[in-house]
Amino acid sequence: MGKVTGFLELEREEEQYEAPPSRKLHYREFVMKLSDEAAQKQGARCMDCGIPFCNNGCPVNNIIPDWNDLVYRGQWREALDVLHSTNNFPEFTGRICPAPCEAACTLNINNDAVGIKSIEHFIIDTGWERGWVVPEPAAKKTGKRVAIVGSGPAGLACAQQLARAGHDVTVFEKNDRIGGLLRYGIPDFKMEKHLIDRRVEQMRAEGVNFRTGVYVGEKPIDAKITNLARETVSPQQLLAEFDAVVVSGGAEQPRDLPVPGRELAGVHFAMEFLPQQNRVVAGDTVAGQIMATGKRVVVIGGGDTGSDCVGTSNRHGAASVTQFELLPMPPEEENKPLVWPYWPTKLRTSSSHEEGCDRDWSVATKRFEGADGKVQRLIACRLEWKDGRMSEVPGSEFEVKADLVLLAMGFVAPTAQIVDGFGIEKDQRNNARAATEGARAYRTSVDKVFAAGDTRRGQSLVVWAIREGRQCARAVDEFLTGESVLPR
Ligand SMILES: Cc1cc2nc3c(=O)[nH]c(=O)nc-3n(C[C@H](O)[C@H](O)[C@H](O)COP(=O)(O)OP(=O)(O)OC[C@H]3O[C@@H](n4cnc5c(N)ncnc54)[C@H](O)[C@@H]3O)c2cc1C
Ligand code: SF4
Repeated sequence: MGKVTGFLELEREEEQYEAPPSRKLHYREFVMKLSDEAAQKQGARCMDCGIPFCNNGCPVNNIIPDWNDLVYRGQWREALDVLHSTNNFPEFTGRICPAPCEAACTLNINNDAVGIKSIEHFIIDTGWERGWVVPEPAAKKTGKRVAIVGSGPAGLACAQQLARAGHDVTVFEKNDRIGGLLRYGIPDFKMEKHLIDRRVEQMRAEGVNFRTGVYVGEKPIDAKITNLARETVSPQQLLAEFDAVVVSGGAEQPRDLPVPGRELAGVHFAMEFLPQQNRVVAGDTVAGQIMATGKRVVVIGGGDTGSDCVGTSNRHGAASVTQFELLPMPPEEENKPLVWPYWPTKLRTSSSHEEGCDRDWSVATKRFEGADGKVQRLIACRLEWKDGRMSEVPGSEFEVKADLVLLAMGFVAPTAQIVDGFGIEKDQRNNARAATEGARAYRTSVDKVFAAGDTRRGQSLVVWAIREGRQCARAVDEFLTGESVLPR
């Protein structure tokens, strides 16, 4: 433990944000990393608890107290080594992880949690700035070939671990660029995409082969989101050519809202809207881009995806942005003695909300109405929640003007093509069935086919995808060689 009395003397300091009026004018990141001195002070607040609940609260089990102590002592490089020992991509999580570790921090019981995420951000950005993040190619090759389907955080973490264990890894991605939802879901203002590019370069130097524009399985005809693949490869081909296959294709089936008027122009899935802007920021031209400029935008769904639609609509220059959520408004503060160290349900206001948005809870959409095939308004009603069940409040119907409606109600499952194409047995929620523990960890019902990330667990978080990719890599390594020194 660095400073024994640090938590008594020092206050939590947040990272600085560029102010909403100016950050709304661009798509760049606007969160500034801590200075060296501020990071040291924040590290000094860690109590190095006998049982570090933060380490358990973090899905990749980052060894948080150790790197906090090293940061306090100014040993940045050693802190980076400890951080990388559990997390392949801390520059992603240090920016976009909701930080369940901080909810679990002991200081959070009656004080402000240690700013763990901001310290993680500091360590990894310092590491890149000083040239300490370099390729780590395997000393010996095994001659075993592994195909990874999908280049989101699960596929990338799995690929990096397996390449470092000496296997020949090829990543197949249907999109034109690598990164999964990091690339084409999460907006640039939350995470700039050059961060993915430099990791891809590192991984190439470690021997990973990337094949973009390749659809694994039968390409769906109505492929709004997947229309970039130039080539297809059948699951059978992969099984014939590779010693193991990892399916990490995400959970791309969006939840729909089948109410009257759903077919009107101007009602879109969030994932029709968000990727287009990321493409434009990347320098592409998107013909007929869905724009929020001058429009009354209604976002349906209160999660991360909805929040990203709010931030993007404001950057387009929307006339107004309203966000509806089906669930009731959560409490502003959690009941800490009741919920600590678990992730609490409480009101969360994202940086996108701070940029301008009317939020409303316990609202259900009944129908969309419009003229000439275009949406003009949304008819909604208020809901009453009792014993976990919702019912319409009689006479509560109301109307909201809307020129653009974005459906951000989550994702139901992986696409059928990716799971059925391999003939993988599914669980009750239609995800690829595979356990995470035991002799068959991450193995699906199909011989030598593994599954990880959102394809296996359902829609989740980047940090969970990284965890699954890492653990799956160990399972594949064991399958191929009979043993593994890769960490779980
Ligand atoms: C808009 C949005 C914002 C989000 N914001 C956050 C956030 O702030 N913080 C957070 O922690 N999480 C966030 N999430 C969730 C997070 O992005 C996902 O949980 C995570 O990316 C899942 O990783 P994955 O590797 O399992 O899948 P994905 O990232 O979905 O990657 C799957 C990849 O597989 C490819 N693929 C699919 N099928 C095929 C096929 N047949 N052939 C070839 N390739 C295929 C896809 O094109 C994709 O690139 C967000 C999600 C969305 C949609
Ligand atoms: S990855 Fe997320 S949960 Fe883990 S230490 Fe970083 S911010 Fe916390």
